[in-house]
Amino acid sequence: MKPAAFEYHRPDDLPSALALLRAHEDASVLAGGQSLVPMMNYRLAQPDHLVDINRIDELDFIRAESAVIVIGALARHRTIQSSPLIAERLPMVAHAYEWIAHAAVRNRGTLCGNLCHADPASEMPALMQVLEAEMVLARADGTRRVPAVEFFTGTYETARAAGEMLTEVRIPTPPAGSGWGFEEVSMRKGDFAWAAVGCQLRIDNGALVDVRMAAAGVGDCALRLRGIEAALEGEPPSADLFAQAAHDAAEALDPPDTAAVSADYRRDLVRALAPRALTAAVARAE
Ligand SMILES: Cc1cc2nc3c(=O)[nH]c(=O)nc-3n(C[C@H](O)[C@H](O)[C@H](O)COP(=O)(O)OP(=O)(O)OC[C@H]3O[C@@H](n4cnc5c(N)ncnc54)[C@H](O)[C@@H]3O)c2cc1C
Repeated sequence: MKPAAFEYHRPDDLPSALALLRAHEDASVLAGGQSLVPMMNYRLAQPDHLVDINRIDELDFIRAESAVIVIGALARHRTIQSSPLIAERLPMVAHAYEWIAHAAVRNRGTLCGNLCHADPASEMPALMQVLEAEMVLARADGTRRVPAVEFFTGTYETARAAGEMLTEVRIPTPPAGSGWGFEEVSMRKGDFAWAAVGCQLRIDNGALVDVRMAAAGVGDCALRLRGIEAALEGEPPSADLFAQAAHDAAEALDPPDTAAVSADYRRDLVRALAPRALTAAVARAE
């Protein structure tokens, strides 16, 4: 298939890009094109205007602002995956990239494009919720910040409004002593998750605190697993506690039931993966 006709724009700076997005309500931003172009070829997306941001160098950055890592709209998956700053300050993100797409896709695809695409089986939307990242949405006349937990609203749907661009993601560095875990099952490494879970926690006087957990592949969009968080907060870590909390969380889910992966199997994966991720997080915290 070939895409439907569209008008192509390639602005050189951010104000010009935002002016184009304001002028053309149905315009789509083109970043790495790894999701948008196939969607256009299948005619699942038919924007009349494409705003290609690949020449806007000011969007290509990864930087630390005190205790926050800021990742710009043109930072490619591969650059983030191999960044020493990310390895040091956000090791869960660096680790999870082993599971995300293939080298050719990671060379072009961007984190911000991945988050705006909002595939329900995509790993980073879940991790951004665990890390309590903020999305910075710019439009021609201002910017706003949206917490990751409010950004993902449904399958391929986000809180981004027409005329807005995700210019950067702001990810707080986990506090000292935090531990993390990430576990996934997919058809092959590099494919979208059948189910994936990520978590972050601390241990204070032998009790679990600041527990945050989220999952991909088990709902309309990435989900924060509030039930597990509440069950664990203030409790001493134990295998029985993790198994019971994961069981209860899995029961409460309404995962997609597809030809490849049944809803029951996805629930089973949460039962298996959540305790593993929590156990790994406790080991790292200790
Ligand atoms: C074979 C294959 C395997 C893959 N496997 C995985 C996987 O395992 N896990 C996973 O998470 N992903 C996977 N992906 C998707 C990949 O991560 C894409 O790179 C990513 O989803 C989109 O990033 P992009 O920069 O290419 O965005 P694009 O394709 O350019 O855009 C995607 C969408 O986001 C919008 N958009 C892009 N940037 C912005 C912005 N800054 N502001 C506002 N809107 C924007 C576009 O308009 C479009 O709607 C895979 C892709 C392929 C082709």
